Amino acid sequence: MSEEKELYLGYTTDKAITPFFQDFLEALEQEKLMKSKCTKCGTEYLPPREYCQKDLSKCELEEHTEKEAKLYSYVIVDFAPETLSSKAPYVVAIGEFPSGLRLTAHITNLMSMPEVGMNLKLAFDKIDAKKITYKWLV
Ligand SMILES: [Zn+2]
Repeated sequence: MSEEKELYLGYTTDKAITPFFQDFLEALEQEKLMKSKCTKCGTEYLPPREYCQKDLSKCELEEHTEKEAKLYSYVIVDFAPETLSSKAPYVVAIGEFPSGLRLTAHITNLMSMPEVGMNLKLAFDKIDAKKITYKWLV
């Protein structure tokens, strides 16, 4: 067993592969979640995409300011991949913001079974100096 076992899914902030992703990571380190918006058709993406899925135009990053969402769907993971086995069972949830944008993340503080429609709050977790993730709290 490696000592460097990852406890959560997260972003390693010094491993950006494009300037666009670098900007996303730098904002995330400041606990700002960025979405992207197509410069041509206005479609928004969360997490951000650099190019629009509909028309392949360039998207621009902007801060996603909504913090509250409703549980849209979830899955309880009993049999986790090795890197997350110490966390199992855990809940991966899709939260829907009032804008309609959806985000997939772990719910880390559930004390009972999740229920579709329940309130979720966006939060951030600094796993270590170079690793950060976002998560849902209930
Ligand atoms: Zn577009």
